[in-house]
Amino acid sequence: MIEYISTRDSSHKVSSSKAILDGQAPDGGLYIPEDLSEIALDYHDVIDKDFKGMAEAVWNKFFPDYGEETISELVSASYDGKFSSPEITPLTEVGCNYVLELFHGPTAAFKDVALSALPNLMTKARELNDFTDRILILTATSGDTGSAALHGFSDVPGTGIIVFYPHEGVSDTQKLQMVTAGGSNTCAVAVRGNFDDAQTGVKALFREIPHPVRGVSLSSANSINIGRLVPQIVYYFSAYKQLLEAGAITDGDKVNFAVPTGNFGDIMAGYFALKMGLPVNRLICASNSNDVLTEFLETGHYNRKRTFHKTTSPSMDILVSSNLERLLYYVCGEEHTREYMQALSENGEYQLTPEELEKIKSVFVGICANDEEGSSAIGDIYHNYNYLMDTHTSIAWACLRKYRDKEWAYSGCSDGDDSAAQHHAVNVILSTASPYKFCSSVLTAIGEELELSDEMNMLKCHEITGVPVPEGLSKLFGREIRHRDVIEVADMKKYVIDHAEKQV
Ligand SMILES: *Cc1c(COP(=O)(O)O)cnc(C)c1O
Repeated sequence: MIEYISTRDSSHKVSSSKAILDGQAPDGGLYIPEDLSEIALDYHDVIDKDFKGMAEAVWNKFFPDYGEETISELVSASYDGKFSSPEITPLTEVGCNYVLELFHGPTAAFKDVALSALPNLMTKARELNDFTDRILILTATSGDTGSAALHGFSDVPGTGIIVFYPHEGVSDTQKLQMVTAGGSNTCAVAVRGNFDDAQTGVKALFREIPHPVRGVSLSSANSINIGRLVPQIVYYFSAYKQLLEAGAITDGDKVNFAVPTGNFGDIMAGYFALKMGLPVNRLICASNSNDVLTEFLETGHYNRKRTFHKTTSPSMDILVSSNLERLLYYVCGEEHTREYMQALSENGEYQLTPEELEKIKSVFVGICANDEEGSSAIGDIYHNYNYLMDTHTSIAWACLRKYRDKEWAYSGCSDGDDSAAQHHAVNVILSTASPYKFCSSVLTAIGEELELSDEMNMLKCHEITGVPVPEGLSKLFGREIRHRDVIEVADMKKYVIDHAEKQV
C-alpha cells in the first residue's frame, strides 16, 4: 500500500487519509507518495471508463486506505450534479490545437475539479483516523481557490474555513464570488499584500499557532494538500481519452500539455499522470510576466528576488510556487530538497545541479508571455475560430505559439503562420477559467468598449459572443455581501485565533 512521506523527511510516513487530514507535513514539507513506481498502471485500464470511472481508478491508486467502495461513493458525491458538462472536463478542437475546458463546475474555474472532492475526502479521513477535533481550513488564494473552497466547504459539519485573498489583487468577479459566499462556517478576508504574502502567512500560521487551538485543528485546502492534487490528475487521462475518440491521435501517441501555471499544482498533476504511464511528451509550463519558473526551467536557478507584476491573469501572479517542492524531491532527492527549500526561505534563491536540470528539462519546458501577448491571443482566436478564452488560458496559448516557433511542435495551422508543417505531437491547452470571470480584459482583447460595471460587461460579453454565462456567475450581482474584513499580514495570526471557535 502506498505511503506518504514529507518532502523534507522521508522517515516521516503517514497513510493517504492522514496526509489529507494534515494538509502539510509537520516539518513544513509537502506530502508525496514515497515511491513513484507504485502509482504506475496501464493507462488503457483508466481511459476505457467515463470521468467518474477514471477518477475512481486514479484515486484508488493514490488513496488505498479509503477502500474501493468508499472511493466510489466519494467520487459520486463529488461530481454528481455539480458540473454543467456530462464529460466534466470536455475537450474542444480550436484551430489545430485542443482546449481542455476545466471550468464547468460551480465557481467556473478549474479549482472546482479538486475542491468538489476535497471536502468529501477530508470528512471521510476524519472517520478513518478516529479524529474528533473540529477542523479549521486556512487557505491563501490568488483568486479562484478561494471561491471554489468556500463553495466546497460551505456548511460541511465539523469544519470551518477562512480564505485569505490579496487586497486589490483579484478580479472584481473573483472578489464578488468570495465576499458573497454562503454558509455559516465560511469567512473570506482581504490581506494587505500580494498572494505570496498571503501564502507565506498561511504556511507560517501552521507552524506558529499551536494547534488544536481552542479545540480546533488546522488544515489546508491549498494545493499543498495532496487531496487537492490527485483529483486533478484525472483530467489528463480524460483529455487523452477524448483525443482518441476524436481520432486526433492513435493509441500510444505522446501528447503535449500547455498549462497556465502559478503554484505548480495543475502541472504537477500532469507529472503524476505521466509517471502513472499516460503517454505525455512535454509539459509546457506557461507563465505570465511573473516568469520565475521560466528562468528556473531554463537555467536551474530559482530566484524569487524579482519584481512582482500584477497582471490580467491574477491567478498566476505568484513568485513562490509551492508544488515545485514535490518535483524537486523526485528529481533531486531529500537532502537537496531540504537544502534548496532552506536557501529559498533564507536567501530567496537556489541553484540546481546540471544533472538535475537536465532531468527536469526532459519533461518540462518553461515559457512566458506578457499581458499583451495573452490579449492578442484572445483576439486572434476569437476572430479566427469564434472561440473565447479567458486571460489565463490565453497565456498558455501564447506560450504554445512560442514553443511551436521554437520546436516546430505542430502541423500547419492558420493561427498566425503555417510554415511549421511537420507534425510532431498534438497539443492540449488546459483552460483553467471561464472568460466570464475576467470580462473586462476579455472584452478589451476582442476590441470592444467597456461598460460602466462588471455586471454590464458580463451582459455585453454574452450579447456579442453568444457564449452562455455560467450559472454560478450570472446570479452573483444581486447577492448580499457577507465578508468585509481587510487586515494586515501581521494580523493574520490574531485573526485566526480570534475566529477559530466561532468559525467551525
Ligand atoms: C489557480 C489557477 C491557475 C494556476 O494553477 P496552479 O495549480 O496554481 O499552477 C491558473 N489559472 C487559473 C484560472 C487558476 O485559478
